Amino acid sequence: MFKTKAYSAASATSSLASTTIARREPTEPDVQIEILFCGICHSDLHQVRDEWRGVMPTVYPCVPGHEIVGRVTKVGSAVTKFKLGDLAAVGCMVDSDRTCAECQAGLEQFCRNMTLTYNFPDKQLGGVTYGGYSDSIVVDERFVMRVPSNLKPAGAAPLLCAGITTYSPMRHWGVTAGKKVGVVGLGGLGHMAVKFAHALGAHVVVFTTSPNKREDALRLGADEVVVSRNSNEMKKHAGSFDFILDAVSADHDINAYIDLLRRDGNITLVGAPEKPLAVAAFGLLFGRRSLSSSPIGGIPEPRRCSIFVGPKTSLPMSRSSPSRK
Ligand SMILES: [Zn+2]
Ligand SMILES: [Zn+2]
Repeated sequence: MFKTKAYSAASATSSLASTTIARREPTEPDVQIEILFCGICHSDLHQVRDEWRGVMPTVYPCVPGHEIVGRVTKVGSAVTKFKLGDLAAVGCMVDSDRTCAECQAGLEQFCRNMTLTYNFPDKQLGGVTYGGYSDSIVVDERFVMRVPSNLKPAGAAPLLCAGITTYSPMRHWGVTAGKKVGVVGLGGLGHMAVKFAHALGAHVVVFTTSPNKREDALRLGADEVVVSRNSNEMKKHAGSFDFILDAVSADHDINAYIDLLRRDGNITLVGAPEKPLAVAAFGLLFGRRSLSSSPIGGIPEPRRCSIFVGPKTSLPMSRSSPSRK
């Protein structure tokens, strides 16, 4: 084991504070990474505040962070994909059983024995895993991704969670040119979703409660912006969407968006509100509409997503690691 600096929360009400945590020495398949950038995801806030206690109670101290980009500083003897000095990235998962049908399909996010990057039982050290709000991390190379040289490392970090979480369901539900796509909420996930949907050729409508986000939405690639509190504006879009990505992480009326779907349209939740949402069956029934959700993405997907982003598309904001401030 070795010690590394980190930012951790001691309880659901305390601020993050500087601390020291233990990491394992790299074993044969492991890569040790000096963390250069780590995005701040809403999941980090949810978990630090123990807002998902019903599903995954937070174990304190909690070191969040799962949008990690850094440089390889050490490799185990069996590592083949990385060498010292390479840029490398780690997302929301650091392990899985690798044998089940989901893992075999490259859908490790559905593996029943998957290990999340933080606040999850640590199979090697005991206790829980610690995330990217730290100076270094040690991860099996199978869960480490290469960062293409055409991406800026800071801008690439949000792809590891916000990016893949929005890209994966859009590909799954067939967002392509000519489709009408809604994005609800223009936060971290939402603005990634707008960029991807626009780049996939869809007609993109952003729903926001904040009229002052209009300019940002248009700049990111939205074709239209609807202020969701305005029921007349909402009605104009009734029954017209092929797909809606709902990225709101607070309580809200999802039925208002279900009514905007066309026949067989789908709305996918990627936000995870603390409390259950009320869903009216009639909204789904009329139009055979579907409501689903989707977590992050599989290990092969960020590669496709970063290739798709390409050298010319500017990536969303980079938020530097708290450990650098
Ligand atoms: Zn996240
Ligand atoms: Zn598995």
